[in-house]
Amino acid sequence: MLNSETSSTADCEPDPAVNVRSTPIGKGVFADRDFQAHDVVGWITGKVHDDPEYGSEYCIDIGGSITLEPDAPFRFLNHCCEPNSQFTWDENEDDPEAIPEVYLLALRDIEAGEQLTIDYNWAADCAIPCQCGADSCRGWIVTLDEIDQLPASKKKRR
Ligand SMILES: [Zn+2]
Repeated sequence: MLNSETSSTADCEPDPAVNVRSTPIGKGVFADRDFQAHDVVGWITGKVHDDPEYGSEYCIDIGGSITLEPDAPFRFLNHCCEPNSQFTWDENEDDPEAIPEVYLLALRDIEAGEQLTIDYNWAADCAIPCQCGADSCRGWIVTLDEIDQLPASKKKRR
């Protein structure tokens, strides 16, 4: 029997090209159709924060002190050390102060039903063990740039 799980927050149309389902590690975002490498999977909507102190598990750092807290469905993207997609935005050359529009870009061909994943690129002191299962899994959800700094911060912070 279904619990009454209503999506009350979505007042705009959910992106029809993806769906959110549960995975062994929580919610995940899955492709509803095939995508080709370099396709735009979807545009990311959410709340923009202009605060250098702001941080959250899902937020996207889009330069300067600006971060974007993505709405569903894309806030549920899981990390993979071999991701098939990536948050991307284009600088507005006419107005460098403008908040860029962020989209999810397919890094390779993606088949309908595949889970969409990104590389969280977390700093070493935020790293948590990774369960992505990719051949090249780093063992930790951490940016490649800071993987050398892991031993000092392997103690779980939370
Ligand atoms: Zn991994």
